[in-house]
Amino acid sequence: MPEVTRRQFLKITGATLAGSSLALLGFTPQEALAEVRQFKLARATETRNTCPYCSVACGVLMYSLGDKAKNAKSSIFHIEGDPDHPVNRGTLCPKGASLVDFIHSPSRLVHPEYRAPGTTDWQPISWDDALDRIAGLLKKDRDANFIAKTADGLTVNRWLSTGMLAASASSNETGYVTHKIIRSLGILAFDNQARV
Ligand code: SF4
Repeated sequence: MPEVTRRQFLKITGATLAGSSLALLGFTPQEALAEVRQFKLARATETRNTCPYCSVACGVLMYSLGDKAKNAKSSIFHIEGDPDHPVNRGTLCPKGASLVDFIHSPSRLVHPEYRAPGTTDWQPISWDDALDRIAGLLKKDRDANFIAKTADGLTVNRWLSTGMLAASASSNETGYVTHKIIRSLGILAFDNQARV
């Protein structure tokens, strides 16, 4: 039997222990050394946005793959909280954390729909048609119902037959401009999804 020094003995037992521990974890040291770690977000496009669900309006980072320059369709595959956003500082509640499923849900509505009076079926229409229709109906209703003065001559400039529900995920600036436009039209019934 060959002579083994104390130093050689410690080297052998140390290497054997490390090898058997790694093997217990499911891989051999040789495989572990050969493996190159694949980062999930490597080559992804990062886009900042706002969670649409509630009035907290947390900032999110959306990651998509698919280079449009190579005619590949972009697809979002991961969403996480934006650590630089002052509202949520990188955190998301369970609803926000599941946004990627909401985006890819087969029942998600991605275009305007129109249901004609007296019918039960909804039909898709273009954004241009939807906006033209909304603008036309607003004008018609305002022309018919705008109240400039009360019966005793007091100027009020009210439009009481139409209301507005604003989005909670708007920035302060968007909310300010929305408020100015709605009030300048004379609309008094104005609420926000932030309260829902
Ligand atoms: S992540 Fe949760 S708390 Fe934040 S905006 Fe979305 S639903 Fe609201």
